[in-house]
Amino acid sequence: MSSRRALLVAVLVTLLAGACAPATVSQTPTAEPPAPKAAPRPPAAPAPAVAAEPLPDVFESDDFVVVVARGGETAESLAARHLGDAGKAWMIEDFMGARTFTAGQHVAVPKRPWNLTGVEAGGYQIVPVLCYHNLGVESKGRLLLAARQFEEQMRYLKAEGYRVVSLADLVQWLHLRQQLPRKAVVLTFDDGYKAFREHAYPVLKELGFSATLFVYTDYVGAGRNALSWDDLKTLAAEGFDIQAHSKTHGDLRRAAAETDVQYARRIDAELGEPLRLFQRHLGRRSPFLAYPYGRVDDALLPKVREHGYVAAFTVRRESNGAFVPLLQVHRSQIYSEMTLAEFAKNLNVFHDEDLR
Ligand SMILES: [Zn+2]
Repeated sequence: MSSRRALLVAVLVTLLAGACAPATVSQTPTAEPPAPKAAPRPPAAPAPAVAAEPLPDVFESDDFVVVVARGGETAESLAARHLGDAGKAWMIEDFMGARTFTAGQHVAVPKRPWNLTGVEAGGYQIVPVLCYHNLGVESKGRLLLAARQFEEQMRYLKAEGYRVVSLADLVQWLHLRQQLPRKAVVLTFDDGYKAFREHAYPVLKELGFSATLFVYTDYVGAGRNALSWDDLKTLAAEGFDIQAHSKTHGDLRRAAAETDVQYARRIDAELGEPLRLFQRHLGRRSPFLAYPYGRVDDALLPKVREHGYVAAFTVRRESNGAFVPLLQVHRSQIYSEMTLAEFAKNLNVFHDEDLR
C-alpha cells in the first residue's frame, strides 16, 4: 500500500471513530449526544478516566466501511462480506492499492463510487478497447491470430490484474454513471467468425472474461466460417454481447458519386437492417455499432444517432478517456505479428498529466 493511501486510511479510521458509532449500533440513531465510550462498562470494573478500550472491529459511514482485516483476508472476501458481492473486490483493491491484507490491518471498503471520471491530480483513467477479428490454429495474415497467441494474451491480462469489463459498462462510464476498475479493459471481436466459438470462447470462459461480438448481418450464417443466428443466440444466453457491424461491411462514408437520396437509402439499409434482424433473432435491438474498417466522418455521425445507436466504435489505436465522443470511441486492433510486449503497449490505463 502506498504511504499516501495508508495515511488516508488512518485519517478515515480517526474520522469514523470520532464521527460514527460502530456499525453494529449505527442502526439506532439517537437525538441524545453520544454517550461516552466507557459508559457500557460493568460497574464492577473500575473504569479509568481515559479508557484504553480497543477500537471496534468495524467503522462505517455513508461512503466507507473501515474494517480490521482478519488473517488471510482478501479483497474478494471483504467485498463479499461488506458489499454483498465478491465481484466488487476491485473497488477495495483499487482504493487500497493492494489485493491481500494482513491480520490487524485497517482496510477501507468504499461503499459507492469515489471517482466516476477517473480524473486525479496526476492524470486521468483511460480504457483500452481491444479489437480482434479471426482466430485459427495457425496465424494467417494480420487479422487471423493463432489461438495460442490469443490465449497467451488473455492469460497476460489475468496475471497482470486487468479487469475485463463489458462494453455496456464502458458506455455507462462514458455517461459518467458508473466507475470502472482502474485496470479496466474491453474485448471485442469483429465480423462474426465461427472460430470465436472454437478458440476464444473456452479461454474467455475459463478466465471469466466477457466480450462483445460485432457482426455484419449479411455474413451471419453465410457459410461454414460464419457464426449463425443460433450460435449468436447461444452466446448471448451465456453472457456474450452481440452488436452491429453494419449490413454488408461497406464503408459507411458517403462516396463521391453518391447523391443525397442514394446515400440516405444505403445508410438506412446498412444501419437499419441490423436493428431489424437483431430484434427478430435476439429479441432486442443493437445499441452499439462498430464502423466497418473503423471509418467514419462528420456526415455519418447524425445518421448513426438518428438510427438510435448510442455508442459507436472506430479502430483508432488509443485508449479512451471518459470524455471521448460516444460515437467515436477508439479501439486498438490486435495483429498477429505483435509480440506480447507489443500487445501490452495497447493496454494503457492511465494518462499522466499534471492537472493541479
Ligand atoms: Zn469488420
